[in-house]
Amino acid sequence: MSRIPLATGAELEVLGDHCQHLRLTRVVQLLPTLLEQAAQQELSYSDFLQTVLATEVAAKQEKHQALRVQMARFPFHKTLDAFDWKAQPSIDPKVIKELATMRFVANGANALLLGPPGVGKTHLSVALGLEACRLGLRVMFTTAAALITTLGKALYENRLEERLKLLTQPKLLIIDEIGYIPIDRQGANLFFQLVSRRYERGAILLTSNQSLGAWGDVFGDAVIASAILDRLLHHATTINIKGDSYRLREKRKAGLMRSAVTPQSEG
Ligand code: ADP
Ligand code: MG
Repeated sequence: MSRIPLATGAELEVLGDHCQHLRLTRVVQLLPTLLEQAAQQELSYSDFLQTVLATEVAAKQEKHQALRVQMARFPFHKTLDAFDWKAQPSIDPKVIKELATMRFVANGANALLLGPPGVGKTHLSVALGLEACRLGLRVMFTTAAALITTLGKALYENRLEERLKLLTQPKLLIIDEIGYIPIDRQGANLFFQLVSRRYERGAILLTSNQSLGAWGDVFGDAVIASAILDRLLHHATTINIKGDSYRLREKRKAGLMRSAVTPQSEG
C-alpha cells in the first residue's frame, strides 16, 4: 500500500510554530497523531482540514464552557440526567425540558421553582444553569441572602450602580432560596431595583420555599413584594413542586428514619 510520507521533524516544528501563533493549542498537541491518521485513512485534503479545524473548535468550546461553569459559581454540579422524575411526579418533565432549551432566556423571561425543602429546586436550577453554560450563555448563580448582602455592601460603598450593572450582564441570573431568611426594607428595595433592571432584558430563575402569597412577609412589605412579583411574573413559567423531601426519602429508604418526620427537622 502506498503511504503518504509523514512530516519530518523540521516540518512538524514549523507547523507547530504556526499553530502556536494562531493559538491552535489542541492541534499542536495532536499534530503528529492527526497527520498519522490522515495518512493511514488516506483522507482527502478537505477532510483533513475539516478534522484539524473541528478538533480545535471542539477544544475551544470545551474550554469556554468550563470557564462559564466556573464563573457561574454553582454550589454543586448536578444535571437534568441525574434527576429522578419518577420520584417527583408533581413536575412535568416537559416543562423543565422546555426551560432547558433556554428559549425563555432568549426572550428575557423568568422561571420560578416553588416548593418545600428538599424537593429538588436547587438541583434543577443548577442543572438548568449548566445547560445554559453548555449552550454558550453566561450564567450567575447566587442565593437571595448572598445577593442582598452584596447589594447592601455595594450601596454602603457607593458602588451600587456598578454592582447592578454587573448583575445585569449574565443572560441568566439564578437566585436560590428566597424566603429562608427575612429580607429587611433596604434589602427589598435593592432586590426590586435588580429585578427592574433585568426586566425583559435578562432572565431570572429563582427558587423559593414560600408560596408567592407569602412574599409580602418575606420582603417585609406587601407593596414592594407585589411590585417585584409584577415584573417577575409578567413573562414567567412558574413550577409548583410538591411532595416530601428527597433527602429524607433517601434516609428513610436506607432505614435510618421512620416515615413520620416533619420537614422542619431537616438540616
Ligand atoms: P431544594 O433546593 O428543593 O431544597 P435540593 O435540590 O437541594 O432541594 O435537593 C436535595 C437533595 O436531593 C439534592 O442532593 C438533590 O440532588 C436531591 N434530589 C432532590 N430531588 C431529586 C430527584 N427528583 N432526583 C434526584 N435527586 C434529587
Ligand atoms: Mg435548595
